[in-house]
Amino acid sequence: MVTAVNSVAQQAPVLDVMRRRQDFPILHREVHQHPLVYLDNAATSQKPWSVIEAERHYYAHYNANIHRGIHHLSQEATDAYEAVRDKVRDFIHASSREEIVFTRGTTEAINLVASSYGQCLQAGDEILITEMEHHSNIVPWQLLCQRSGAVLRVAPIDDAGQLIIEQFAGLLGPRTRLVGLTHMSNALGSINPVKALVELAHRSGAVVLVDGAQAVAHLPVDVADLDCDFYVFSGHKLYGPTGIGVLYAKLARLEAMPPYQGGGDMIKSVSFAGSTWNDLPYKFEAGTPNIAGGIGLGAAIDYVRNVGMSAIAAHEADLLAYASAQAKAFPGLSQIGTARDKGAILSFTLAGIHPHDVGTILDAQGVAVRTGHHCAMPVMERYGVPATVRASFALYNTRPEVDALFHGLAKVREIFG
Ligand code: PMP
Repeated sequence: MVTAVNSVAQQAPVLDVMRRRQDFPILHREVHQHPLVYLDNAATSQKPWSVIEAERHYYAHYNANIHRGIHHLSQEATDAYEAVRDKVRDFIHASSREEIVFTRGTTEAINLVASSYGQCLQAGDEILITEMEHHSNIVPWQLLCQRSGAVLRVAPIDDAGQLIIEQFAGLLGPRTRLVGLTHMSNALGSINPVKALVELAHRSGAVVLVDGAQAVAHLPVDVADLDCDFYVFSGHKLYGPTGIGVLYAKLARLEAMPPYQGGGDMIKSVSFAGSTWNDLPYKFEAGTPNIAGGIGLGAAIDYVRNVGMSAIAAHEADLLAYASAQAKAFPGLSQIGTARDKGAILSFTLAGIHPHDVGTILDAQGVAVRTGHHCAMPVMERYGVPATVRASFALYNTRPEVDALFHGLAKVREIFG
């Protein structure tokens, strides 16, 4: 299991999970008279005090609009927000702060690339994605295909939920202009060999967008090493706030791209005869941004760096191994997604019981899991299931919480006979 994560795990410092749990106030509440067992981290993670406090502190002490104000509060807010850009740059190893564009999240970042970069696509060009993509890395490309006449191609996965590399390579051709692929699947947990795939795509002249919505909270990310053209993620899956995310793009790409949205902050000058655009990255940041969210994201990055991405990966690899062993022994449980290289996601069905019923009974015991198609309907179609139950782990989850999940599943079995 988890070759990449395992190799990180071997040298990783130990994560003191009980101490870390103290940092997350929500973990101390009860749900239906049971201690909360939060296993829906792939949908959104919980927030440590430092993130909550960073946002509160901004609103209580230096709330002001940024970039435009000469007054003191505006300068403080601008400095704090812009410092986060440097933090993000460093966190993902981008080479310059101009390459970091703030967005509302992964979805907006992908739509930005589809709308702006997508303008260079023409009828007959091809966009290649994979069968394991989240809807937000499918639908923007479908819309772009409708606008441009480009064609969407899909690289298939095998029964374990792994991309079939030979087929991916076979689908790359002289017409492939853009490849969109996830770093880690939210429905299956599969981790793609992104560096090798980027190299293949570049060899055939395509640019690559990597959806890092899941990976960024579980793996060290190095965009320089991956050599991808675009990397996108959301703050809220990285222990940060909702409504803030990041588009990383190579500088040359951003320089060549037209603006995404028009409005304040993205312009240098405006007249009725025409307007000129601001420098990077502001050309892509129209309007007042999510200032508090950005500041909260900075606190989240500080938090995970302090815990250590490799310690997080090691801890989660242990949880996944522990959960997978119990899953294998559980009667009637079929795992969906058994890739060799896999993040801390356990997706499954129970024979004869609808996933929503499983989720409801688990919820009554305080165990929060996700049930449904996980915004990856083509993955459900691939496995011939309407939905799965998904338990997804974070740095604060524990082995006793995994036990609570399986205790809950035993109850589901008991009720359904
Ligand atoms: N891609 C993947 C792999 C995801 O897991 C998600 C969130 N479930 C998204 C994209 C979309 O992220 P957001 O809703 O934060 O824009």
